[in-house]
Amino acid sequence: MLWIGCSDSRVPGNESIGFMPGEVFYHRNIANQLQMVDFNGLAVLQYAVDWLRVRHIIVCGHYGCGGVKTALKQNELGLLNNWLHDVGELSLRHKVELDAMSDRQHRVDALCELNVIEQVRNVCRSPILLQAWRRGQDVSVHGPGPYTGEVSAAVLAELGCRFVMAGHPERRTLFGDRPYAEVLIARREGTPVGFALFFHSYSTFLAQPGIYLEDIFVLPEHRGVGAGKALLRRVAQIARERNCGRLEWSVLDWNQPAIEFYLRVGATVTPDWRFCRMGADEIAKFADES
Ligand SMILES: [Zn+2]
Repeated sequence: MLWIGCSDSRVPGNESIGFMPGEVFYHRNIANQLQMVDFNGLAVLQYAVDWLRVRHIIVCGHYGCGGVKTALKQNELGLLNNWLHDVGELSLRHKVELDAMSDRQHRVDALCELNVIEQVRNVCRSPILLQAWRRGQDVSVHGPGPYTGEVSAAVLAELGCRFVMAGHPERRTLFGDRPYAEVLIARREGTPVGFALFFHSYSTFLAQPGIYLEDIFVLPEHRGVGAGKALLRRVAQIARERNCGRLEWSVLDWNQPAIEFYLRVGATVTPDWRFCRMGADEIAKFADES
């Protein structure tokens, strides 16, 4: 296993993640990054993948990361600013969400999580991983939830979003060279409590992109406090920012509470459109028919 972590000494070594000495190959730097111009990190990655043939790569961040804090504050700290430049850019890309958090600690922790996701993407998009996958090598990349004092379960896995972390073949669907969907995480007092997963559709009638909301999920014990509505609103804001003509999703016809909720936020439940579906078997059968 290859472990990419922060230089911070509070991030655990092999013993606290249940591995024996010799089982984990380590790489550490400030704010657990894998940058495409960092020969040190890339050499470690290449050695681990091509020679050691590790089957798992873990990018582990930690809450309260000093590197992430520094990137957020944009203080003048010389060379450190160069090293943390990408984390600073990441914070600018998520400025709207981060600024919406009133508590500074939550902002830092949210950026710690975003940074883990970003670095997992960097690893997945590196030529080293792309080549390994192309030749069929069994190696998966994981981004467990940032370390909080005890080894934390993966943030997304807690939310039932396990396919993101799964070994294969799903590993590339969200973090590969062609991510098929985007995910928003809802946080309550800093703890992830729900997610929304969406992707772009296109309307030929409007000649405009649209957004299809595939899934919106809030942990049962955190329902009724507005997390679902906040997720839906943020997806609507993204649709507006990207000039989408439509935001669409489907609902089961017996789910009256959900239908009422959607009607209340101004959606229409279309009476005349029916959903068509082919499963993998039907797709294969139809695709092969001559
Ligand atoms: Zn750190």
